[in-house]
Order: sequence, then C-alpha cells, then structure tokens
Amino acid sequence: MATPDQRPADLLVTGAAEIATLAGGLRRGSAQSDASVLRAGGAGRLAVAVLEGRVATVGPEPEVHARLVGLGLDPADMALLQAGGGTITPGLIDAHTHLAFAGTRETELRLRQEGAGYLDILAAGGGILSTVERTRAASSEALLADARRWSVEMLRHGVTTAEAKSGYGLDLETELRLLEVYQQLDAEGPLELVPTFLGAHAVPLEFAGRVDAYVQDIVQRQLPAVAEQGIARSCDVFCERGVFDVDRSRRILQAARDHGLAARLHADELHDSGGASLAAEIGALSADHLAAVSGEGIAALARAADEGHPVVATLLPATTFYLMAQRHAPARALIEHGVPVALGTDFNPGTSPMPNLQVAMAMATIQLGLSATEALVAATVNAAHAVGLGATHGSLVKGRAGDLVVWDVPRHELIPYWLGADLVRHVVKSGRHVHGAGRVLGPGMGQAG
Ligand SMILES: [Zn+2]
Repeated sequence: MATPDQRPADLLVTGAAEIATLAGGLRRGSAQSDASVLRAGGAGRLAVAVLEGRVATVGPEPEVHARLVGLGLDPADMALLQAGGGTITPGLIDAHTHLAFAGTRETELRLRQEGAGYLDILAAGGGILSTVERTRAASSEALLADARRWSVEMLRHGVTTAEAKSGYGLDLETELRLLEVYQQLDAEGPLELVPTFLGAHAVPLEFAGRVDAYVQDIVQRQLPAVAEQGIARSCDVFCERGVFDVDRSRRILQAARDHGLAARLHADELHDSGGASLAAEIGALSADHLAAVSGEGIAALARAADEGHPVVATLLPATTFYLMAQRHAPARALIEHGVPVALGTDFNPGTSPMPNLQVAMAMATIQLGLSATEALVAATVNAAHAVGLGATHGSLVKGRAGDLVVWDVPRHELIPYWLGADLVRHVVKSGRHVHGAGRVLGPGMGQAG
C-alpha cells in the first residue's frame, strides 16, 4: 500500500538519445533480442510522460508534448527530469532474491577454495542451515534493517521491483516473520517487492533424516498459515538431489496452488533433478538456475512455451560465478528452443552476495552468451513475467507502471559493457524520482525540449 511519500506522481522525462520500451510482451526465441528500441534522429530527443504513476506516452519530444496538450495538460506545468542524452529503459526487475537473512558466510569462501562443494558444506551443517540458525535468533527489526540496506543498494543500481523469498526460517514463526519484513519494506518503498514463500529451501536440523515429516509440516502447517495471512504471492521449492526430490516438490507446489499461490522452482541447479520438467508439468511461473538442466528438461520447457503456458527460465549467473562452477546455464540452447529467459541476482549470503543486477546482466553476456539486448529483455519484461507482473510491469507502454531508469550511456548496449561501472543517473518509481544526482525541476522551471 502506498504511504503518503510513495504516492504515484506525474513526471515528464525528456532529452533521451534512446528509449528501450520493451513493448510487445514476453520474449522468446529470436524475439528475445528485440528490446523495441526508439532512437532519436539528428538533433531530436525522446521523452516519456508518466501520469498518476503510469506511463502515458513515449516517443519524440514534439509528439509527447502534443499528446500531453491533447490531454489538456501543459508540459511546462509538469515536474521535469532531464535525461541529458542518456538512455531510458524500464526499471530493472530482479526475478530471484533471498533479500532478508541474518549474518554472513564469508568463511565458506576458503572451504570452496579448498574444493568443498555446495552440498558438502550443507551436509556439514553449514550453508543454508547456518544462516537459518542466525535468522531464527535475529529480531524482526534487525532483519528489516539489513533487508532495507540491501534494497536501497538494489535500487541504486536500477532495480525498481524485486522478487524476495523467505526460506531462512524453516519454521512457521520465522518464515512468517521474514514475509512480514517484506510486507513492511514493500510498504515503505521505493523498491517494490514480490514476496515468495520458500519454506522448502532446506530440511531444518530438527527434521534431519525425516524429510517427509518436514514436507508434511510445510503442507499442513506452514502453507495454510502463509496463505491465510496473504503475505506471499508464490511458493518456491529447492528441488535438488539430497534436498527435495521431484515427488516431494510436486506435493508442496500442488498444495500451494490449492491455496492460491503460484509455483516457482529452484530447478536443476547442481544436478539434473527433473526440476525443469516438473516446472513445465505444473505450470510454474519460473524455473530458476538450470545450470545442470538436461536436454529433456529444455524440451519440456520449450513444449510448455509452444503450448502457450511459458515457464520463464530465470538464470542466475552470479551464483555459478561465486560457486566457481565449471558449468553455466545453457542460455543459448534455451533461447534457441524458444524458452523465454529472465535474469536475477539470487542475492543471498552464501552463494551470491551480489545485489547488483547490472553485474548479473554483464555476467550473462560473458558467461551465458547473451547479447546486451537479450540481457536487457531478460532483466525487464521477461523478469516481470517470471514474477507474475507481466501485465503491469517491465515495459514503457501506455498504462504500465511508470518505473524507469535513466542511464548515463547513449544506447542500451553499453549497459552491460561497462562492467561494474555505476551508470544509473536517475531511478523513477511510479513517476516519483527516487534516486539520482541533481533534482527534478518543478513545474514551470524546465525548458522542456
Ligand atoms: Zn535462490
């Protein structure tokens, strides 16, 4: 819910050399490399007008002005933001984060450098379970303060909406507290959060060796309480060898659907576990990671897309980088088979302490073979679909969310090119200027055009 300073606003953004509108909906196959780009010709410039928090019109400045006049508005009376010859894109959408947790796990770096694998660390009581112990012991205020810090970091790098998973509680009380942190943070803004219940992130110590009993706890206690409070939009499961197998994952996600929650999956991250096929079978919003997906899994996702029930392959290159994995998600094969691809940071304290989606976009070009345009599509319109906001977010089209970034480069191909550079000049959420140097000119103070 919008607090007074979160109210949607009117804003005219002018002076752009390029606008990647991402008009046209979810992309797959060859369409993944089309960002619906407008380029200013000659000395002309491009503009976006946002009215009451939603995109009203996009195009060459004279046309945008004429349309505003046609709506009975005087562009000179609108708050004005100068893009200064930069590029405008929709606000980035991080389709996979574990935003709220307690503690850090930097000591695991040494273990990995010595050759320990992710599942070795988990089996030794480290990994997720060490974060669970600290998260259960943390106050909600401390969890909120940390999550707020990292949400600001995401926003400063151009993210206006992020999916956020629970999953470091693994008991009803703490899972609910994590989801309440997201509810609070989303209400504060400006980063918009899409909360996901991930009680099936790992099997907690008190259920060691009793996986079925823990699945029962999720299905009979945790899910009904989460659904009743209405504080999660979807349910995720870590479907992986030694964690939750396909049958148990299916059981949890079917129960989630009965409670009105959409499904998503950590699928085929470390081993081919049948996760991609399960995601296609149950009509999940997204199948995430996929570094170890089989040809069969890719075919199942391709079939689902062909049949009009696309599951978005949400790839997380920062995680394979941080885990020093030899194998990366087969992004090119997914795109060539017509599977829509999105990107996320997988921000979490163990395997991706990286809140910057721009860097994930760059990694996607270097490690996964995406073009800069494919990476932008993956981090905007396709990510919107992956988090269930495809009808409202991720493109600069009339009526969609007035969320945008002004980048300090003249064309979008340079966004992942300048690896690690801070290229965000301004961030706008629902028509409000929420980050950036300089100020928005008040009505009558700007020379529009
Ligand atoms: Zn994850």
